[in-house]
Amino acid sequence: MLRNSEPERIAALHQLGILNTNTSEYFDAVTRLVAEMFGMSGAYISLIDSDRQWIKSTVGFCPPPSANQRDQTFCDHTIRQGRVLMIEDTLLDPRFANNPLVTGPTGVRFYAGAPLVTPEGYAIGALCVIDTKPRALSEADRDRMTGMAALVMSHIMLGRAVGHVDSVSGMPNKYQMADDLDALGKRHAGQQRVLVAIDMPDSARAFEIVRVLGVAVYDQLIRAVGDRLKLLFENRAHLYHLTDARFAILSNDEDTQGFIDYLQGLEAQLQAPLLNLNIPLNLPSFGGIVAFELCPTAAKDAPRKAAAAVNQALIKQQRWSVYNNAEDERQQRAFRLLNDVQAGIEADQFQLVYQPKHDLANGACLSAEALLRWNHDELGPISPAEFIPLVEKTALIGPLTHWVIRTAIKQVSEWHADGHRVKVAINLSAYNFEEPDIVQRLSDVCREFNVDPRYVEIECTEGIWMEGSGILKTLHDIRALGMSLALDDFGTGYSNFAYLQKVPATVVKVDQSLIRNVHANPRDQRIVRSLISLARELDYQVVAEGVETEQSLGLIREWGCHIAQGYHFAKPLAAPAFLQHVVLYSGSNAAVGA
Ligand code: C2E
Ligand code: MG
Ligand code: MG
Repeated sequence: MLRNSEPERIAALHQLGILNTNTSEYFDAVTRLVAEMFGMSGAYISLIDSDRQWIKSTVGFCPPPSANQRDQTFCDHTIRQGRVLMIEDTLLDPRFANNPLVTGPTGVRFYAGAPLVTPEGYAIGALCVIDTKPRALSEADRDRMTGMAALVMSHIMLGRAVGHVDSVSGMPNKYQMADDLDALGKRHAGQQRVLVAIDMPDSARAFEIVRVLGVAVYDQLIRAVGDRLKLLFENRAHLYHLTDARFAILSNDEDTQGFIDYLQGLEAQLQAPLLNLNIPLNLPSFGGIVAFELCPTAAKDAPRKAAAAVNQALIKQQRWSVYNNAEDERQQRAFRLLNDVQAGIEADQFQLVYQPKHDLANGACLSAEALLRWNHDELGPISPAEFIPLVEKTALIGPLTHWVIRTAIKQVSEWHADGHRVKVAINLSAYNFEEPDIVQRLSDVCREFNVDPRYVEIECTEGIWMEGSGILKTLHDIRALGMSLALDDFGTGYSNFAYLQKVPATVVKVDQSLIRNVHANPRDQRIVRSLISLARELDYQVVAEGVETEQSLGLIREWGCHIAQGYHFAKPLAAPAFLQHVVLYSGSNAAVGA
């Protein structure tokens, strides 16, 4: 039965993905064969798009591009008719007598075309023969044409199936899903659907199964997972096998809430053990759910959102996670920032600012903490509190820190050249201490800019990472260069004192969260006071960071803190402003500030 909805016919043609593809030996062999079989001067396979004819293969027939306009073609009549169309003499047929293909150089006088009909009944094109003299095909020959057209069609379907079916499970794959979403987006724009991405099992478990039971058993298991999903979602959804152990479920109708409720009620069915080679296996499953509106971009957006949601489910180790826009935007921004770090370094988007540190004995400012700033070309200023935690989880912290080290030490050399013996503290991340050449690099940069390493302090936060192999040696080597070592954010984290004793730190920086409200909070007062006294007893120099008020300053000074840093003195400053600050708080002026 031929179907004649034109939009659906076009969608069916586009879904086949054959338009604008390369030449194919198979189709060329068919056109050659058909031309020879019937002794014709030409044969071709045409596909009829919304307003044009596209020729997949041709022999002996080369229509000018203008003749491919849909209303100029013979084949458009063939597909409308839905069975073989034969024009014994084009000059005698009023539909074609004035057609340029007939009157022009191609001189077509005979045409016979058999429609290419999809299994669903859409005529998407035709297999045709032409000749330059009038003639006729017997009924038997016309049947042969129909038979050849069916062969062409099944080859098109097969070619599509090869790229659209998963080779392990035999289920439709992600390309089929994209095509289906595309077609739905056109046919049912505005309707709601639910797309679910489900990992069953997750990749860690999958790896374990492959390792213990082998690939063949694993593949069998994946097929069993597919079968289970098919049973659970029969008549409710389309299923796809996306990759390895990830499947997708696309709901059939508009009742999105009903579908989500159904999913969330599937606890026991998903949990039930799968029998594989008589070994019952309980597979964990993690699913990401997105409800979305069908639209032209849904094929791109919905799978990405479902993937983002399943990542959330994996991170939280929960069975279902519903797509969360804010979370997704956060992740996308994080990804973008990481992606842009390298280019940002090259484009000079990073800058160091210097926050003064004051000696509480005399108020003088002779040192600073170098703090990184990023002025992203499109996103604007980005706080290190946002990008450092991202970057330090990747190897990108290597080149970024290297830039910081060079910039800070070069700055110190300039200050020294101007006669200001200022010391600078540089923040390093845990990863930096694992870089095999970190000590060498620190030493090389000091030598390059002729800076005595005693004017450099390295800040790092204490943590379990310090117990990593080789870290202690690196810390000792940094100290051996002559640099001092400060434990940043002290009092908030790990604080394994037994271990800290082995760390060759010279300074502790009491964390700002403890200092900021110390004037008002008796509990913080007790903690800070004991931290300062403990640190002093262990011979550390004590720095308080986040000093914002006169009262806090008074307290920490009374408890014996050596150095203070905070908004009470100054925010982090650009290099020239910092130098002015140093001049203001040096020597006789110093006591005024502190
Ligand atoms: P941090 O090393 O503990 O630096 C101190 C942070 O506290 C700085 O924030 C500073 O601006 C802020 N601060 C100082 N005094 C006050 C105060 O009185 N009140 C308040 N509310 N804040 C104060 P910033 O510059 O945003 O840096 C945040 C964190 O980013 C730093 O904490 C450090 O962990 C990291 N970071 C900054 N620059 C670098 C860098 O070059 N390398 C590495 N690895 N990390 C860096
Ligand atoms: Mg710091
Ligand atoms: Mg800190």
